[in-house]
Amino acid sequence: MAIIVQKYGGTSVADTERIKAVAKRVIETRNGGHDVVVVLSAMAGETDKLIQLAHQVAKKPDPREQDVLLATGEQVTISLFSIAVKDMGHEAQSLLGHQARIYTDRSYGRARISEIRTEPIWHNLYKGCIPVIAGFQGLDERGNITTLGRGGSDTTAVAVAAALGADVCEIYTDVAGVYTTDPSMYHKARKLQRISYDEMLEMASMGAKVLHIRSVEFAKKYNVPVHVRSSFVDEPGTLVVKEEKSMEEVMVSGVAYSKSDARITLAGLPDVPGVAARIFTEVAKEGIVVDMIIQGSSGDTDLANLSFTVPRPDCQAAIQILERMKAEWKDLEITSDENIAKISIIGVGMRHHAGVASLMFQTLANENINIHMISTSEIKISCVIDDRQTAKAVQVLHEAFELEKPLHHEIPE
Ligand code: ASP
Ligand code: MG
Repeated sequence: MAIIVQKYGGTSVADTERIKAVAKRVIETRNGGHDVVVVLSAMAGETDKLIQLAHQVAKKPDPREQDVLLATGEQVTISLFSIAVKDMGHEAQSLLGHQARIYTDRSYGRARISEIRTEPIWHNLYKGCIPVIAGFQGLDERGNITTLGRGGSDTTAVAVAAALGADVCEIYTDVAGVYTTDPSMYHKARKLQRISYDEMLEMASMGAKVLHIRSVEFAKKYNVPVHVRSSFVDEPGTLVVKEEKSMEEVMVSGVAYSKSDARITLAGLPDVPGVAARIFTEVAKEGIVVDMIIQGSSGDTDLANLSFTVPRPDCQAAIQILERMKAEWKDLEITSDENIAKISIIGVGMRHHAGVASLMFQTLANENINIHMISTSEIKISCVIDDRQTAKAVQVLHEAFELEKPLHHEIPE
């Protein structure tokens, strides 16, 4: 008999029919002899509606009160769900964040879970009753309601699973699992059977929306196996687990891309200590997050060039900050490009394989795709290319690294 935490996202509880279907699914797991703990999101679109309401009464809604408002979305689904389960002849009890004793810090809108006192959850399980917990919400030590940031019910689920020592945390969503690349970008994308926490973190940081980043960090820290799967079909999804030896035999497990950045290039900077520090301090002061950075000096002159990427919506603001520096640095020239994409290959295997970077660059070169910037981490290589070449790049890299074939450690289906 296992302890299973099942989290259902917004589309899985989008209306009362879906709620009844999910209730059946939970009861089936329970009838299989397992202890089930349910964590729910709000109905799809509800949290957005609540945020819009808040903005109709104030330009900058008070953060404490906005959290009280946003927490109501999940209150609707956990109560409806529990009503449905009881109507099907089983026991269930809804628990709001504070009733489930989910404690957080006081950063309204992006609170972090500090502790879960699991007695109320255990109490329900001992009684043979299914605990149905509101995702995305908690309380601070003074009893204020807090929320964990958009998509935060994944994190609630993994944290609950960690606190209970659950055997698995199942995250039910509207996609069948984690894919080698975005299936809407390339039709040969393949569902992965297993992926390591670190690979999942890199994919999530590239904008893969399957899992909330913090939930993966939590899962890694407490070693909770996470099963990402669809609530619309019965087949298994993707297991996100601790790195296994066999995962290293594969060079690359996925190709990710993001089109959310812009590149800014500065030419004619004085090549003296402190210039980069000065630039990035000014940019950071405005809360703009910089991602890739390349610096080079322009040969025999005493001038340097610097390119970096920022989130596209922040590009103009960053340029304005930099324009002010022209007063000091008279040779400074600022150019920007908002039509870029970042394309990355990800895999724990690249730690041990030579030639991964060269294969990536050669593959792009063969298609005449120009690389504007390159950055690497231990398990990821990213290139900035022209936006319009994204689909082609995804396709040729997917082919070059043979991602359409089952990976070494996968059992053919
Ligand atoms: N309902 C919240 C949101 O939409 C939390 C979640 O769905 O995970 O952000
Ligand atoms: Mg959601």
